[in-house]
Amino acid sequence: MAANGTVLLIEDEQEIADLLRLYFERDGFRLVHSPTGEEGLDRLERGDIRAALLDIGLPGIDGIEVCRRIRGDSDIPIIMLTARDTEIDKIVGLEIGADDYVTKPFSPRELVARVKAVLRRSEERPIAVQTAEIAGFVIDSGRRQVACPGGETIRPTAREFDLLWYLSRHTGLALSRGQILEAVWGYDYFGETRTVDVHIRQLRKKLPDLPIETVWGFGYRLGEN
Ligand code: CA
Repeated sequence: MAANGTVLLIEDEQEIADLLRLYFERDGFRLVHSPTGEEGLDRLERGDIRAALLDIGLPGIDGIEVCRRIRGDSDIPIIMLTARDTEIDKIVGLEIGADDYVTKPFSPRELVARVKAVLRRSEERPIAVQTAEIAGFVIDSGRRQVACPGGETIRPTAREFDLLWYLSRHTGLALSRGQILEAVWGYDYFGETRTVDVHIRQLRKKLPDLPIETVWGFGYRLGEN
């Protein structure tokens, strides 16, 4: 019945939970619903959850804090449900380590597609250990970390690393947001490219000297033109 496994929804709005349950069950998932962060964290501890959908505005501890606590001991895929576009900027600055974000109102069908894509990506890590060197940075796909020219080691989140690895395998090329989204997140292109910008910003913050260039009106390029 639930061939795709169990997804945990932490959300205080019952109507959203009812709607999402319908869509997720139709696609072979089991959806379990916790109306508060505290209950959601308890449910996660009991195990058997493949991915979490996490509302930001929750009674009690908010979604940002819940995300932090989950990331304290787990790297399960997390998709944040945000009420406003501007919230994304705020939460990005906090680097809470979510894999993806959607803004309400979102399409349930698209959310299911994103969960599937996130699961697919989290389960296909590169097998062969490889490194790429750009401007003195050594990007190591086996350890999933970056050695900086100054000797410091940075460990990006899973999604940030996937993005960086993709860019580093195409250095010098202008890559469109849609192209990046499809390669790194595995989506069909829904016109929602905000996630790419958000993760680029996080990478720039963690690796300020890494030459990630914005190609205006198009996308991004890593390294020399
Ligand atoms: Ca809410």
